[in-house]
This record gives sequence, structure tokens and C-alpha cells, in this order.
Amino acid sequence: MLDWLRILWHLARGRRTLWQYYTNVTWRTCERCLAWHGRIGASPRAFPNPNDGCERKLLAFPVWELPTYREKARLMRRRVEEELERRRLFQEAKQMLAKAPEQALELFDRAAAVDVYIPELEQLAREHGESLAGAPELSARLREIFLRRWSEKFAKARYERLPERMRLAREKWGENRIKELFP
Ligand SMILES: [Zn+2]
Repeated sequence: MLDWLRILWHLARGRRTLWQYYTNVTWRTCERCLAWHGRIGASPRAFPNPNDGCERKLLAFPVWELPTYREKARLMRRRVEEELERRRLFQEAKQMLAKAPEQALELFDRAAAVDVYIPELEQLAREHGESLAGAPELSARLREIFLRRWSEKFAKARYERLPERMRLAREKWGENRIKELFP
């Protein structure tokens, strides 16, 4: 449907305001909430309120800005798909680490290119701590991958909004943590 037709359709129903659903896309946002990220509705009642610890915001916007918000929704949807793919790659990499480390390293690198979350690395180090202690070269290569991708993460647009000093402190904190986890 053309955008102006959509707008007319809402206006004809007396709607001046529409709502868009936002959640914070991170490693622990549940799939149910991710599925709502970016969705547009005619009333706040059109959305679930799971109260499950995931962030939930409904953003009101004027009906005539629908094209802009539909474009936002498309980008938000893409971000969700990237995150789901990242999780899949990360899990697969973990399963392969003992048997096929080369492939596992490649998958970790692809997952980390999307994003790096320290709690997941902590879990990885916990689960594979013993075998990594016996394989210092593998541990070093994991460290190299995660450090490189971690630093890239802070160069990305969504981190540019953080004040410079906070951004640097967070980046440094993560760097140290990665070095501790993968010595
Ligand atoms: Zn949720």
C-alpha cells in the first residue's frame, strides 16, 4: 500500500497519533520482545506488556510521519535479525570449540563482528576454562578476536552518543576483562 493511502486510512478512522514499540536489543532481550521491536500500532493497547525485564517503550508519533517510522521499523527489524544471527553463530562456535577450533574461531569472529557482550564471554570462559587453560594458543587467539571486535564496537555510531570519557572508560574496562578471561 502506498504511504499516503495508509495515512488517509488512519485519518479516516479519526487517528492523529500512532505508536511504535521499542525494546533495547542486547544479548539478553527475549525473542518475544524482539519480535515486537519497531512494530507500529494504532493504540497503546495494540501492544503486549510482558513486564519480563526487557525494556519496553511506546513512542507516539503523528500519523503523517508514518513513512519515516516505517523506515525506522525496517532498520530496527534488521538489527533484530542481526542479533538473532549473532546468537546462533555464538552458540554454534561454543559447541565447536573443542572439536573444531579453527571453525569455531571463524564463527566467533563473525558473531563478534555484529556485537560483543562481556557477560557472554564470561560464560564462555567459565564453560571452557579448563580446556582453554591447556591450550594457551587458542586462548590467545580468542583474546585477539574479542579485543579487536570490542574496540570496533566502540567506534560504531550507537556508541558515539556516549560522552567521550564514559565511552573510553567502558572500552578500557571491557578490554581488561577480556584479557583476564582469555589470558
Ligand atoms: Zn522480553
